[in-house]
Amino acid sequence: MRPLSVYIHIPFCVRKCAYCDFLSFPEDQGPGEAGKLQGRYFDALLAETDAAAEKLKRDSAAAVLVRCVYFGGGTPSLSDPERIREVLTRLEERFAFSEDAEISFECNPGTASCDKLQELRRAGIGRLSIGVQSFDDTELQLLGRIHTASQAVRCFEDARAAGFDNINIDLMAALPGQTRESLLGSVRQAVSLAPEHLSLYSLIIEEGTPFYERYAGEVPDPHFDRRDPDRADTGLSHLPDEITEREMLHAAWKELAAAGYERYEISNFALRGRRCRQNLTCWERGEYLGLGLGAASLLDETRFSNTRDLHRYLEAFRGSVPAEEKTLSGGEQTEPLSRIRENTEHLSAASQMEEFMFLGLRLTEGVREERFAAAFGRSVDEVYGEVLEKHIRDGLLMRADGRIFLTDYGTDISNYVMAKFLL
Ligand code: SF4
Repeated sequence: MRPLSVYIHIPFCVRKCAYCDFLSFPEDQGPGEAGKLQGRYFDALLAETDAAAEKLKRDSAAAVLVRCVYFGGGTPSLSDPERIREVLTRLEERFAFSEDAEISFECNPGTASCDKLQELRRAGIGRLSIGVQSFDDTELQLLGRIHTASQAVRCFEDARAAGFDNINIDLMAALPGQTRESLLGSVRQAVSLAPEHLSLYSLIIEEGTPFYERYAGEVPDPHFDRRDPDRADTGLSHLPDEITEREMLHAAWKELAAAGYERYEISNFALRGRRCRQNLTCWERGEYLGLGLGAASLLDETRFSNTRDLHRYLEAFRGSVPAEEKTLSGGEQTEPLSRIRENTEHLSAASQMEEFMFLGLRLTEGVREERFAAAFGRSVDEVYGEVLEKHIRDGLLMRADGRIFLTDYGTDISNYVMAKFLL
């Protein structure tokens, strides 16, 4: 069997957060009447599922086995649970699923009522990822989030009551005005809820976001000097400087480790057996199929993504009907895919090796040397001997038990280390 992860993108949000550069927009800003738009989007998703399944069946020698499904966004919890159920049912009709398939769903605390969470659970969602970001109301307000800290706590408790026994909490570090104590306050609050998984990413000021606009003129690129004292004039409090940011993160990691959470990736923590399968697929270069607007895929060592143009996406599937309702040849059914799939890149052996290294090094346990050799027919030393030697000497990488992994220092400057593995 050919293991596969499926990612489903739901691009709608209540409103845009101040730091967000994800492919998402308030529902009433898309083409067409607000309210009807989601209906059209889900119809297109179902048609894309049919077409993608047909194409995979036609192109694949081995039968596909879905090991996980991940609804990301945007704000999937803004959707009608009935439509989510439809998508899951359609996937199950078109693909074989492993018995223990992990079905994850991103949830914004401002959009998830008790009833909705129960419906989602009944629809087959097994793992909830709650985008909390902070348990400090001032920070939440600054980020432009639509919920308060107490709503986030209530959402978590409602999710437990609805039967979710696998929950992730997303938190953010290096926020404007955030201190070590306020970050630790959020981490402690999260730990007190006892989620199975926790993600802690640092804020990145992305071009094109309101956050970036507020720093315009002072910020030549996203990696600007966070210590610039003039930033107080922008109306935002200071961002922590890089050294403070690292200290804050290390303090948070320590807190999480003491509470029993293992850091298994640079920014992800889990209780035993609760690592996120979808994330692991990406870091281990497993195959995944992205469905929906802008969704990315990796299949047969080819990367491609769907159009980011909502109008084009909806138009491609307009009038599509499920295969069993109308006799369509495989070619006819899969034809809309050629109109939405773009940025196709067949990965060379060199690109595959680069990805193997810089994605694998994100994992705390690092890359396995024997896996590299099995995948590429060459030892990691043959390809990267010089880089490895230098980085080990500089204290950025370690080698033990057939694995190569980042040291704490290497983790602190991981982007620099990984860039060195580009061939
Ligand atoms: S809820 Fe998430 S996807 Fe939507 S605007 Fe905020 S950060 Fe972006």
